[in-house]
Amino acid sequence: MSLRKIAVLGSTGSIGRQTLDECARHPERFRVTALTAHSNAGLLFEQIRQFRPQIACLTGGKPVTVPPEDISFCRFYAADQLERVAEDCDADDLMVAVVGVAGLRATLAGRKAGKRILLANKETLVAGGSLVMNACREENGQPTLIPVDSEHSAIWQCLQAAGPNRVSKIYLTASGGPFRTWAKAEIDAADCAQALKHPTWSMGSKITVDSASMFNKALEIIEAKWLFDVAPEQIQVLVHPQSVVHSMIGFEDGAVLAQLGVPDMRVPILYAMTYPERLNSGVPQPDFAALAQLTFEAQDPQRFPALKLAYEALGMGGAACAVLNAANEVAAQAFLADRIRMGKVYRVVSETLARLGAPDAGSLEAVLEADRQARAVAKEILEQVEA
Ligand code: NDP
Ligand code: MG
Repeated sequence: MSLRKIAVLGSTGSIGRQTLDECARHPERFRVTALTAHSNAGLLFEQIRQFRPQIACLTGGKPVTVPPEDISFCRFYAADQLERVAEDCDADDLMVAVVGVAGLRATLAGRKAGKRILLANKETLVAGGSLVMNACREENGQPTLIPVDSEHSAIWQCLQAAGPNRVSKIYLTASGGPFRTWAKAEIDAADCAQALKHPTWSMGSKITVDSASMFNKALEIIEAKWLFDVAPEQIQVLVHPQSVVHSMIGFEDGAVLAQLGVPDMRVPILYAMTYPERLNSGVPQPDFAALAQLTFEAQDPQRFPALKLAYEALGMGGAACAVLNAANEVAAQAFLADRIRMGKVYRVVSETLARLGAPDAGSLEAVLEADRQARAVAKEILEQVEA
């Protein structure tokens, strides 16, 4: 593989920083041409000094923000120009590692400009699945969208060995999060500090909260449906507390393929960057002798009702998944701000979905309108449940 130019949207986040670590590990393979952050100007400027991109953007910045003189080689935007960066940057690959539906427009703009999308930002696919998949069809037999989310990367990796055979089942594994063994009343009363103690993965705060509420897995069911074109009932979530089996695919003959590894996002990040090749990611293989056991259990819908909502939203069609996603973003933010306890997160999302149903999803504007409406309704419900 020759040198690839890569743009990293959300470079100051957990995925963004690990992406840049891999770029630094293999400087002969990657050149970083664009970087974006939302509010962490200090780290963004450091990254600009180290990686010397041509363009950078502080999406939550103020136009008056003056960049330091020593980064004058870089075209710097101090306002929300994510879409413009995705479109204008000189890159082969666009790592979309921003959090939330903010990534949707930029993903589509980057794709329209011919970039290959490396997608960590699952909310983009949940909200705009049909639009994104239409924009990301294969070109000359090559994928134009590669998943980064560990479960979906695992499925993608297993699919390399599937040949022409049809996948009959996807087993999506879930660590179970910090509340896996808690009673329902304890989970409902849990607060942000408790939710942020994830047992196996180190990630950004929003996805860590989503992992505790199980909305992360709900979003991943929807993500899998779009990426792999399977029916929702072909996707089964399995709780696997060790997070070593990252997901599995099953075939008609009863065979199941799994992808294993220690829980470290550098593996799926680098695989997306180098597909179909594998390079040293800095991650060791698991010490199987030391791993006492790998266990699997069914998901408990009473204590974690979020998954059921994902199947419901998929069944409703239209922009129901965009509604679910937007309501969850509002609820997760309120939970992170200690405004509500865990039980209310589900309530905000389920009531928003019940109120709005499945608005039109025929265009980007329609999806973004559904997102706006869902945020407004979710905020109303939030005020009611807070009272
Ligand atoms: P982080 O919160 O750590 O980082 C988010 C990044 O996006 C930061 O660079 C942040 O900038 C930027 N950002 C925040 N808000 C906005 C906005 N409104 N517009 C543009 N940029 C914004 O998140 P993660 O890295 O954990 O997650 C990124 C995405 O990847 C999420 O969609 C998540 O679900 C997905 N993912 C993450 C995994 C992980 O291990 N972390 C695993 C699988 C998927 P700033 O730092 O300035 O705030
Ligand atoms: Mg995941």
